[in-house]
Amino acid sequence: MGKAIAPGLANGRAVVLLDSIPVQASLTPVDSDAEILRLKRAFQSAGADLEALQAHVHQEFGASEAEIFAAHQLILEDPALLNDIIQRLDSDALRVEDAIAASVEEYAARMSKAQDPYLRERELDIRDIGNRLIRHAAGHPASRFSALEDNSIIVGEELLPSDLVELDSDKLAGVVTQRCGETSHVAILARALGVPALTGITDIGGSLSTGQHLLLDGYAGKLVIAPTQSQRQAFEQKQHRFNDYRDAQKADEHLPCQTMDGVEIQLMANLARPNEAELSASSNLAAIGLLRTEFLFLDHSEPPTVDEQIDLYAQVASRMPGRDICIRTLDLGGDKFPLFLRHSPEANPNLGIRGLRFSLGAGLSMFRTQVEALLRVSAEHRVNILLPMVLGVDDFLAAKDIILQIARELGLTVPPIGVLVETPAAVLLIDEILDHADFVNLGTNDLTQFLLASDRNALDAEDDYSVLHPAVLRAVKTVCSTAQAKNKPVTVCGEAAGSPEIAALLVGLGIRRLSMSPSLSMPVKYLLRTLSLATLEALAREAIEARSICRVKEIVRVAGIRGSYPES
Ligand code: PEP
Ligand code: MG
Repeated sequence: MGKAIAPGLANGRAVVLLDSIPVQASLTPVDSDAEILRLKRAFQSAGADLEALQAHVHQEFGASEAEIFAAHQLILEDPALLNDIIQRLDSDALRVEDAIAASVEEYAARMSKAQDPYLRERELDIRDIGNRLIRHAAGHPASRFSALEDNSIIVGEELLPSDLVELDSDKLAGVVTQRCGETSHVAILARALGVPALTGITDIGGSLSTGQHLLLDGYAGKLVIAPTQSQRQAFEQKQHRFNDYRDAQKADEHLPCQTMDGVEIQLMANLARPNEAELSASSNLAAIGLLRTEFLFLDHSEPPTVDEQIDLYAQVASRMPGRDICIRTLDLGGDKFPLFLRHSPEANPNLGIRGLRFSLGAGLSMFRTQVEALLRVSAEHRVNILLPMVLGVDDFLAAKDIILQIARELGLTVPPIGVLVETPAAVLLIDEILDHADFVNLGTNDLTQFLLASDRNALDAEDDYSVLHPAVLRAVKTVCSTAQAKNKPVTVCGEAAGSPEIAALLVGLGIRRLSMSPSLSMPVKYLLRTLSLATLEALAREAIEARSICRVKEIVRVAGIRGSYPES
């Protein structure tokens, strides 16, 4: 059992990653001048490689995936890496391969300790660059995989972005790794290639070998090694059912998102990077329901300037011309610490100095800079400003007053200002907050965590952490009804909105706006189009009266509501 990181089903043969190029200890004294020359040549060849790779990936995958290798190029061009390796060549009399390995190991180890998951996952990018340099220095520039046969499932303890793009994508059926995050570039590329991927498979070296028959389920997170005849037959039947289901979803692609009886539901995009806006535009999404701005700056070593921010927000806005864009002010703290922010460790970071609490305290000047950028961009585009981690009227008004004051100073109009309801306090005080807020977003990810006292990031918390808990559903209902009574738009922008069966329940509770990762919108629309509002309302009424997550799951199952996967 593993964790699914890219959806789909694959039936193929394992191709286990070749070991890295072995680096042999030097028997003769090392001439450091000759090694420096070899190092510089390796940098040059790796640079040329990356340039060619970017062009190839741009053509095969698209602009946003090519940016992964543009980022590798930037790391390669950073003089700090080259100088660090040269220093090791000089002082430790190492061979180039060993010096590169030592430097990369140190960089990667630093990244792996970063608090922020996004930065932690960049560790693999650094290792990818290190491998490329070592291969060139050792005179083996080819990829780590030998040529693929049809239906290959590549397997490695730790796969790198270039492993995926350098091989023949027509022959790639799936990806299996031991260690890889959902937001890692390998996961992003697997989703872009449309191949299923699994992570968390332990003892890969001991249990898998090249040529073995594998069945990979990128929905249920399952891997069957050397399947029996009956396992194979069951899997093939599952593939047929799934293909039919996906074809049916595709047929609805250009139809509006509405229930069977014509109640319109707006689907919007959650974005963390500007290039994702392309996918939102092409997926016919109505607006950007949430732009998580902190992700734009996590790898910056200095706080972002006004101009830098204007440029990025305008880039996003211009990819969705004429549409509403809801931009959340920096939600720093918790598990999101950019490189430019030094912080003292907190006992409970999720309950610590984060979100608006940080913006109104130690992060005030950063907040003011961001507000200026948002106001300037809103003069040209339809920006809505969203405030995270609000607790009540006091902090909401303190932030709003700063926005009003900066707008006055700059002579700019104030755009709509909304509240992200993601704390139990904000649910209880929603009536008063809405006297001052123009719109509401419901952040069900944090709201569930805080209502149920259950960590949203824990891998094994499925039974304790779920939006389907009746307490969470009641909180959603309270916020939704209060917002509707006050005529304020309300959008759910937590991950729940992108899960078809939960989205169905949310619509039954009164929600008409759902914001999700663009790639999840098709199954949500498909399901909603098959159900009437009366059915959804009856379902929601029953769920809200239930006593447990299990019972709500049962209610959804009995009602025959199925998600993006035919069996779910
Ligand atoms: C949420 O908490 O639901 C939310 C949208 O914010 P984030 O996932 O960025 O914490
Ligand atoms: Mg949140």
